[in-house]
Amino acid sequence: MNEPLEEEQICGGCDTIPDEDGCECREVLCCLCGEKDHIYNMENPLKDCDEWEFIPFCDKVDGFTCRCCYEEEEEEEDCMEEDEECI
Ligand SMILES: [Zn+2]
Ligand SMILES: [Zn+2]
Repeated sequence: MNEPLEEEQICGGCDTIPDEDGCECREVLCCLCGEKDHIYNMENPLKDCDEWEFIPFCDKVDGFTCRCCYEEEEEEEDCMEEDEECI
């Protein structure tokens, strides 16, 4: 039996390879409202960074926000940008 090792390592829930901190199925708290959800359902400013997978979990854990808080923040940023353009 030749079972491919790579597929075994990838978590079926989040399609990431679990490291010593686990995979993206683990639950984290929203830093703004305290909502608890899986990492893959949360937003994090660091997620846009190419090094996301290499950033230690302890550095990510304080930056998670749920989608509601994230969208609120985005809207605020958009408003600020519009104001700047008017000036
Ligand atoms: Zn997972
Ligand atoms: Zn939140």
